[in-house]
Amino acid sequence: MKRIYLDSAATTMLSGEVLQEMMPYMTSIYGNSNSLHSFGREAVAGVDKARDIIANYIGAKSNEVFFTSGGTEANNWAIRGVAHANVKKGKHIITSSIEHHSVLDACKQLEKEGFEVTYLPVDETGLVSVSDVLHEIRPTTVLVSIMAVNNEVGTIQNIRAISETVKFYGAYFHVDAVQALGAMPINVDDLGVDLMTMSAHKIHGPKGAGALYIRNGVKIDKFMLGGEQEMNRRGGTVNVPAVVGFGKAVELNARDLAFKDKKLYELSTYFINKIQYEIEDIKINGNPRQKSNAIVSVTFDGIEGENLIALLDMEGIAVSTGSACASGSLEKSHVLAAMGMTDDEISGTIRFSFDIDVTKSDIDTVVRVLCECVEKLRKNSPIKTRKKNAVQEEAPVETKKEKTIKASETKVEANKKTEKKKEEKVAKKQDKPVEKTVENKKAPKSKKKEK
Ligand code: PLP
Repeated sequence: MKRIYLDSAATTMLSGEVLQEMMPYMTSIYGNSNSLHSFGREAVAGVDKARDIIANYIGAKSNEVFFTSGGTEANNWAIRGVAHANVKKGKHIITSSIEHHSVLDACKQLEKEGFEVTYLPVDETGLVSVSDVLHEIRPTTVLVSIMAVNNEVGTIQNIRAISETVKFYGAYFHVDAVQALGAMPINVDDLGVDLMTMSAHKIHGPKGAGALYIRNGVKIDKFMLGGEQEMNRRGGTVNVPAVVGFGKAVELNARDLAFKDKKLYELSTYFINKIQYEIEDIKINGNPRQKSNAIVSVTFDGIEGENLIALLDMEGIAVSTGSACASGSLEKSHVLAAMGMTDDEISGTIRFSFDIDVTKSDIDTVVRVLCECVEKLRKNSPIKTRKKNAVQEEAPVETKKEKTIKASETKVEANKKTEKKKEEKVAKKQDKPVEKTVENKKAPKSKKKEK
């Protein structure tokens, strides 16, 4: 059975070219990049080369790129580092309700420390409103942190427009670009960002490597204490092979991005058209006009996503329910909830994320298997049953026509009662037995006819 991987937003396979570039640094070039001798100088040359490649790709200076252990650390550093270093200006931070947990959890921690955080809402497509930023920003706002591409639904935010508002108020602007790096060209000046998070493993680089871009002049505290590495801003021995691999991955990404984007557009469009044609009662999530071509989030009515993932997995197809970290836990997606989806819709939502090695024939297989699995699950869906029950339990809503019929039926009933009472009175007077109903009253007449 050929396995099909549609979970590239969670992580990607290490590229062969990246591995080749890393190999010497995992074997013969093993010096500590902070050492002054030739072993150290060899290692630092690899690190510097990677830093130059990344800086060049994002339009930054090399001394503005700092290596971290990944996107999570970079997000934590950006948020906590800027908040702590700028308390004199204020203690207010703005972010959105659909950020990655590494942003949200860092913000929650700051709230415990006395900072105030505004979590901006999003519309039903996952888009942050620029006017909401304008409405919430104040002189004491030190940082605004908004992700470029959402990892669950792929919506692309209006980063440039938000940046202009943020700059006007003199706050710093941080962008989590982990999902954007492989999806669109990123230039820190064009986007107007002060800090930007990147991660290697989403673009065929090694896991456990990332970087934080910090514009020269930004006031930020050290996050990782314990050494003078990374221009004395991030303590800890540099993971040289991973950093070298990250540099190579960015180089390859820059080379292939235009081709990759075109291919991903074709693949995701083909997939969306096909499932919309083949499967009933589904909804494609995210903003149709501003969306990464790599991510397609689909809500299947009447289905538990976890069950669908398990069935697809048995057929060798790998997908996920949402963010990589949230899948594996049954916690409901905060992103989909913020987009206003119901619990049933959230639980029926699956993220398909594509890479260029996926073929149209893979998609044909996936859609065929999906059809079978969805049909199977819908047959015995507890969600459908719950929905039916919910409808049955609800008081039936009367239409105008039904109300009129009911009113005239009541009138007829009342007339019957009055008529019966009259007859009883007459019968009492004449000493005759009483006929039971108005209808019964007619019966003897027809009997008479029969006679
Ligand atoms: N930010 C976003 C948008 C992500 O999708 C992820 C990973 O899924 C991260 C941050 C965390 O990156 P890392 O896995 O490198 O820690």
